[in-house]
Amino acid sequence: TTAISSVSQGKGKAKQQDNINYSAEFDWSAGLKAKMTKVFGIESFRLCQEGVCNANMDNRDIICVMPTGGGKSLTYQLPALLTPGCTLVISPLIALITDQILHLWEAGIDAVMLTGSTPKGELSEITRRLQQMARMGSGGSEIKLCYVTPEKIAKNKSFRAVLEELYKAGKLARIVIDEAHCVSQMGHDFRPDYKELSMLRKLFPRVPILALSATCPPVVCRDLLKILGLKPIVEGTRATEDGTVYFTAPLYRKNLHYSVLPKPSMVKESVDVLRDYILEHHKDDAGIIYCLSQKVISLDFILLSIIRRPKLSKRVLMAQLKRETLHKRWRDGSVKVVCATIAFGLGIDKRDVRFVLHYSMPVRVFLASCLPCYVTNITVQKSLDGFYQESGRAGRDGKDADCILYYRFQDAARLSCITVSDHNIRDKLHSMVRFAQELNECRKIQFAKYFCESSKLSMSSWQTSDENALTPCGHCDNCMRAPELVDHKDVRLAAWQILRIAEAVHQAGGSVTVAGLVDLARGNGGCNFNVSDRGKGRRGRSKSMGTDTLDLETVAGGKVDLSKEHIETLCVHLLLNGYLVESFHQTPYSVVMYIAPVLAESLRFTRLPREDVQRKGPPMVCPFLNKVKHKAITGKKRPSTPDVDYSSDPSDGRITASHNKRR
Ligand code: ADP
Ligand code: MG
Repeated sequence: TTAISSVSQGKGKAKQQDNINYSAEFDWSAGLKAKMTKVFGIESFRLCQEGVCNANMDNRDIICVMPTGGGKSLTYQLPALLTPGCTLVISPLIALITDQILHLWEAGIDAVMLTGSTPKGELSEITRRLQQMARMGSGGSEIKLCYVTPEKIAKNKSFRAVLEELYKAGKLARIVIDEAHCVSQMGHDFRPDYKELSMLRKLFPRVPILALSATCPPVVCRDLLKILGLKPIVEGTRATEDGTVYFTAPLYRKNLHYSVLPKPSMVKESVDVLRDYILEHHKDDAGIIYCLSQKVISLDFILLSIIRRPKLSKRVLMAQLKRETLHKRWRDGSVKVVCATIAFGLGIDKRDVRFVLHYSMPVRVFLASCLPCYVTNITVQKSLDGFYQESGRAGRDGKDADCILYYRFQDAARLSCITVSDHNIRDKLHSMVRFAQELNECRKIQFAKYFCESSKLSMSSWQTSDENALTPCGHCDNCMRAPELVDHKDVRLAAWQILRIAEAVHQAGGSVTVAGLVDLARGNGGCNFNVSDRGKGRRGRSKSMGTDTLDLETVAGGKVDLSKEHIETLCVHLLLNGYLVESFHQTPYSVVMYIAPVLAESLRFTRLPREDVQRKGPPMVCPFLNKVKHKAITGKKRPSTPDVDYSSDPSDGRITASHNKRR
């Protein structure tokens, strides 16, 4: 509140209760800009950086959502230099912190880091300096930025005591929470230690909090406010005195070209597909291949296969290298392609990543730390948020980059097998599968709809000044795909057959997986399916009691006349559209995902006799890729992207990026 009375806003002075325009000039503006150029070598603010810096200088609580690579770090590093005292930064990963510290040291800034692996001597030296700062009053050399991992706050009492000393001396300038979505269980990357950060507001009630994230859908945002103890949001750059100021910048990035490509079922084949893609399109470029986890997918296999090409061998490295070494080589460009699980690259500042490939659905697996790692204790979170954020590590320099998801429904089904059957997680899985299966709607529009839900506030974040959020981007796979590559088939009869089969299995007390249903529909495996006796299994577990055989002719009038891939696509279509539903069953070793008909919906087809379905059945059209090729399925050449000018629109301080035709 101190700064508000001294704020000069445009021509007049802001009164206490007036709206404040944080993109206007302030007393500190000249100082900020001078430091920005001198220390960071940055000429002008971009996106909402200036507004966030100003709100920061004004001691506000802030939530700032900016795309990865947008420049969130500057929004607290710059104000930290102009404010007496120390800014505490909480960040989830050591790699990320190290990266920041190196940058700050290069710029000659007094910054320190405290993590679980900080040596004892260093720890006590830093503690001593912080305590000295608290006792010295003004003047003397100050640690401007102190980076810590969340468990330092959650678990380390003596460090909290040092912070309290600083606080009492008025030397705790601000608390920054990077990757703040990790606070929320609704987000895609929940971290239990982050939840403990709720104590910060209680311990240091007068210290303003800045929460930073690249992905913060409205549900996560609500959680953030609650857990961090922030006041309700006041909208945009015009903020009254009370409340958290919310800043957002366009999340859609024109230079990222999204596509989903079919992933072959055999590991060997799909590795070839990855390798061929890299060699063909990004032979000398830096890129990341995200994998599910080192255990589930043999990374060695992928890498060996790439390395066998001598030209690539020196540039590809395993994530199993010591992290620090890998990061160093990755930064200086001697390693070009990294295979990694998703933790890699969170916040790593490498600007020229030209491609990010997702070899399987993006997931976050973490083990409940206090429990033995049985399958049931694994939480898998997978969602479009994760995919969006991981892909966002490409093209931070604003130049063209490719983001590709290699997708096979079996991946989703297998992942589901280790998903706790929680509705929220199931919804997320569905949103991801829906995204992957979609062959028509523009990827940008899909993201916009997903992230914005019903919130007007963030719908604008998918808009740029020259383009509406719901205008197709024109350069993703769905926008670019030649129309002849997609067949829109009337699938009423096939749907009738599949649902009849599913009902027959269900009535016989059997259970079937998607793969099993596909086999039955094709008349494979002697048309056998498992029959379980749910009543007698211990603790309600279903127990396999043998098999039953389906008479395909009687049940469905014969085989389904579609290819294996297309039958699978149709099954997923039926699942996403509520005709089939999945259920998870615990066996002693794993969780299996079965699907069953939703009778109310299913009967709309199956109550009709076969010969009437085509005429009287409810209309159902399913899009199929008519050629399952693993590359070049768009069939068109992509237009090149104009450079993005990341400056704010001065007219009213609303935050927009404009695209102009420089160069
Ligand atoms: P984020 O945390 O939002 O992912 P960073 O803060 O790591 O992004 O910044 C990404 C890169 O952008 C860094 O290399 C940074 O130096 C650069 N950068 C930040 N702000 C600007 C700016 N206004 N102009 C030019 N480059 C900038
Ligand atoms: Mg960052």
